[in-house]
Amino acid sequence: MQILVINCGSSSLKADVREHATGEYVAKMVIDRVGSEAATLRFEDEEPTPLPGEVGHKEALEISLTRLLQRLSDPEAITAIGHRVVHGGARFTRPVLIDDQVEAAIEELSALAPLHNPANLAGIRAARALLPSLPHVAVFDTAFHATLPRRARVYALPHELAEDPGLRRFGFHGISHAYVARQAANYLDADMRDLRLITCHLGNGASVCAVEFGRSIETSMGLTPLEGLVMGTRSGDIDPGLLFHLMREYDYSAEELDHLLNHKSGLAGLSGIGNDLRDIEARAAEGDEHCRLAIQVFAHRVRKYIGAYAAIMGGVDAIVFTAGIGENSALMRHRIAQRLDFLGARHDEDRNRELRLPSGPAVERISTPHSRTHLLVARTDESRAIAEATSLIVLKSDAVARAQRPIPVAVSARHIHLTQEAVETLFGPGYQLTPRNDLSQPGQFAAEETLRVVGPKNEFPAVRILGPTRSLNQLEISRTDEFALGIDAPVRASGDVANSPGILLVGPAGELKLEQGVICAWRHIHMTPDDAAHFGVHDRDVVEVAITGGDRDLTFGDVLVRVKDSYRLEMHIDTDEGNAANLGRGATGTLISTEGRAQLQRRATRYDTVDAAAE
Ligand code: AMP
Repeated sequence: MQILVINCGSSSLKADVREHATGEYVAKMVIDRVGSEAATLRFEDEEPTPLPGEVGHKEALEISLTRLLQRLSDPEAITAIGHRVVHGGARFTRPVLIDDQVEAAIEELSALAPLHNPANLAGIRAARALLPSLPHVAVFDTAFHATLPRRARVYALPHELAEDPGLRRFGFHGISHAYVARQAANYLDADMRDLRLITCHLGNGASVCAVEFGRSIETSMGLTPLEGLVMGTRSGDIDPGLLFHLMREYDYSAEELDHLLNHKSGLAGLSGIGNDLRDIEARAAEGDEHCRLAIQVFAHRVRKYIGAYAAIMGGVDAIVFTAGIGENSALMRHRIAQRLDFLGARHDEDRNRELRLPSGPAVERISTPHSRTHLLVARTDESRAIAEATSLIVLKSDAVARAQRPIPVAVSARHIHLTQEAVETLFGPGYQLTPRNDLSQPGQFAAEETLRVVGPKNEFPAVRILGPTRSLNQLEISRTDEFALGIDAPVRASGDVANSPGILLVGPAGELKLEQGVICAWRHIHMTPDDAAHFGVHDRDVVEVAITGGDRDLTFGDVLVRVKDSYRLEMHIDTDEGNAANLGRGATGTLISTEGRAQLQRRATRYDTVDAAAE
């Protein structure tokens, strides 16, 4: 399974193919300057090649995807496409399968992210047109911050405005913050739910996030990605009064202010030499005052947020640096991390300076061994996070589709399986069972013959024998039957009769005292290997089956899966269980394997003793 990840931004378009199981790149491609005459297409490790004429997003995507697919040795291995979408508004709080309604909703949200959502949408439309038969999934940059508490997401405006669902703090870079928080927790060998993390995504766009026990509870970007930290070309926080001042005293229009704060400010504006921190650091080292100030203001703002977020969470276990600047600039990390001792964070300057993250997923520590708060550097990988989210959605919807196949449920009344030797003891030498009617499992039948079963307390006068004969004697009864007979039988899979109680059987030609063999049959589903593949289960898995649509709906847990070529799909329960669910003829159940693990467990120990041959 491979996932194609498309990140269609306003001026660049990235498309990666990732192996689902390993996260490894299968192919990687970038188009720069989309929408201009200078657009170029670059495959990993190759020189960029110019794209013809002025290429819009749609054409760029068509050209690039076609070329990308041509390069793949097995384009059929792509099973889904994940799209990065910047703004999911209040509606999208997790990744979703894209359909026409989702597409329309993303379009409506363009008003909130005019630079990003239209480009994301163009990518989605072009990709859906080119690959219509594959599932497309939207993964939102805002979704991780859906957990921001009200106090953190509301602007202190008059309440009619403050409570407008479209006028609130949304936060961005959620895909990256969530990914590095998970990476950091793995590195610390801890559960995210036990950690208070501050993740600092410091790239051309930059934001900080307070991740308290796995949830984003505060982040520095707001309604738009302009709020918060100083960025490559964005100012981040300013006094809103500055806007009116610039409008009144300097004649700025709204459009001009937008351009000023989004494109002309930040590191680029302060340094006067552009937004690339490498250049700014080099010039600062030569004594350029503007560049030195740019670095100081950038670091100061990050420190301010770290202090604030530690205060909000009442402490912090780890501070994580990521993205272009966070992963690569030892100077910026040093400036940010110095004098954080009051938070218990002591940075190790040598480790910081010498740090080179290895390729692939990587987390390294830059704090001293005794630092109470860890300082970590983690490589972010939004494309990998999108691929993971996409495959999860696709697997989930597959599981739901699988679960749609109904499983016939049959109620077995008490019955007995006998060996040929027992048949002859009870019915006479050379006696053969007489088939009365076929059972659903191929080759199995209910016999004409019945037996008297005598327990310590009561007896059943006519218990049906099922054929053909087997290698073990086994009486299968319900819990209610146990009380009636006065014995205590264990719940067992068929054939697993060791240490079960015995009972007296009385036939027309003789009696047989069984030493063992009375069980309460463990509810189970018979299925073929094809069925097992369809449901995504294996022999001896334990699953849940829901019985719905009746007046006593219930979900059976602890249902054993038995797989054999000769089986027919059917679940077997006893009369107590059937009555509990008020089951009639033709009843069906639904295998619950959606989101798997909780319901579907393998229990090797208890059932390894099951002798399938005995069935
Ligand atoms: P991103 O948006 O995550 O790609 O980050 C881009 C930013 O990372 C740019 O400002 C780059 O100058 C900065 N960057 C990348 N490598 C380095 C480095 N070795 N030293 C300083 N800044 C770097």
